[in-house]
Amino acid sequence: MTSTLIGKQAVVIGAGMGGLTAAGALADRFERVIVLERDTLPSEPAYRAGTPQARHVHALLLSGQRALSELFPGFEQDLVRHGAVPLRAGLDVRIERPGYDPFPQRDLGWSSYAVSRPTIERAVRRRVEGRPNTTVRPRCRVQEVLATPNGEAVTGVRYENSNGALETITADLVVDASGRGALTLALLQLIGRPLPEETTIGIDLGYATCIFDIPDDAATDWKGVMTFGQAPANSRGGLMLPLEGNRWMATIGGRHGDVPPGDAEGFLAYAKALRTATIYNAIRSAKRLDGVARYGFAESVRRHFERLEVFPRGLLPIGDAICRFNPIYGQGMSVAALEACLLQRLLDKQGEDSNPIAALAAAFFAEVQALIETPWSAAILDFAFPDTRGQRPVDFETTLKFGIALTQLAAEDPAVHKLTAEVQNLLRPRSAYLDPALVQRVLAKITKT
Ligand SMILES: Cc1cc2nc3c(=O)[nH]c(=O)nc-3n(C[C@H](O)[C@H](O)[C@H](O)COP(=O)(O)OP(=O)(O)OC[C@H]3O[C@@H](n4cnc5c(N)ncnc54)[C@H](O)[C@@H]3O)c2cc1C
Repeated sequence: MTSTLIGKQAVVIGAGMGGLTAAGALADRFERVIVLERDTLPSEPAYRAGTPQARHVHALLLSGQRALSELFPGFEQDLVRHGAVPLRAGLDVRIERPGYDPFPQRDLGWSSYAVSRPTIERAVRRRVEGRPNTTVRPRCRVQEVLATPNGEAVTGVRYENSNGALETITADLVVDASGRGALTLALLQLIGRPLPEETTIGIDLGYATCIFDIPDDAATDWKGVMTFGQAPANSRGGLMLPLEGNRWMATIGGRHGDVPPGDAEGFLAYAKALRTATIYNAIRSAKRLDGVARYGFAESVRRHFERLEVFPRGLLPIGDAICRFNPIYGQGMSVAALEACLLQRLLDKQGEDSNPIAALAAAFFAEVQALIETPWSAAILDFAFPDTRGQRPVDFETTLKFGIALTQLAAEDPAVHKLTAEVQNLLRPRSAYLDPALVQRVLAKITKT
């Protein structure tokens, strides 16, 4: 298929998951795509300063894996070539939640892959760099998004190049995938436009992560473990997944001050105090391969760009710049890739318009809501902890009871188990739980208890 070009040059700020996937979506529609990244980009999978979260477990949901394959056909094989560990959904990760230690393990019919964030990102970057019209420029820190004097349209960006000199680059479209979205907000302020309203949920999460060699005597009935505490008293949990290179990455954490210490001994002691001993027993004699990495995540943030009446033409925030999710649900990379697929579909559709870029942001902000709704709604569960800040839903107790009964049904019935896994993997919307027959079964459970 020959694509209609809609512009000469698109500039993407940030070579994280949002920026790289957006660049993949733009490549067929612009003569040139330039990705500007402030970090030095390592040729091998390695940590870098601009994405400190990469030192922690990064689960790739099935929806994200499929979205990456839609943008970069054959992407799953890239992951396999880089040593990603296949995980049978429902079977290979032991889930431990109060009342279910473990939750019934059964094959739900699909595989996903466990692999480190630097390896996923490098695999995507290679695909992007392989596009003849796309360049990724490292050590280029964007300082400002530039706009016309009346603020109606964006014209490019100003950035500091790898020699420390300031350069200006023009663009028909600027995608802000800088993670925090600060450049978009700064432009709106500069041109005197209102900032988007924000919904925030304060969770004060503290993460700590260590990597271990998988010992020869490791358990054979699971490849990974996810352990939940008992809300509201115990916010501690852990997720340990295999990584390429016969390693385990163990991330443990808690909320509102009950956070893990940063030394190896303290890490083990915290792991030992989790509600179950599975992670501790697995790692206590395993060889530790690095130090303890920590991360503090104060709040989930959803910016309501869709509520703004006007927005500069040619500017599009994406990924975490729109919505930062509680990381324990493992959604951010997958949502970023799904947003890039949405962007691609809109560009395909709008390519037929006379002025497609003018209509792009409004269409994107409207359609991205449906995509964000399901992952964002998982955050309702954060209100099970009384110190959580934010607008507690009025029907929270009912939602909680519904969730508990649904979990009971999922434990008993493989079809309901599969449905809940599909919703968690963002393959189906949360509204799938409103199916009348399912609601009736859940309500019957609630009445019985
Ligand atoms: C502790 C933690 C654990 C997580 N676990 C998971 C998980 O299990 N699964 C999952 O899917 N998601 C997870 N996430 C979320 C995931 O990391 C993000 O949602 C995802 O990376 C979003 O991509 P992004 O491109 O918006 O931001 P990022 O990936 O953070 O990328 C932003 C990029 O922009 C660059 N940049 C910033 N400012 C500038 C500038 N001025 N000029 C040039 N470049 C700039 C940065 O250096 C960086 O490379 C986790 C997040 C955290 C904090």
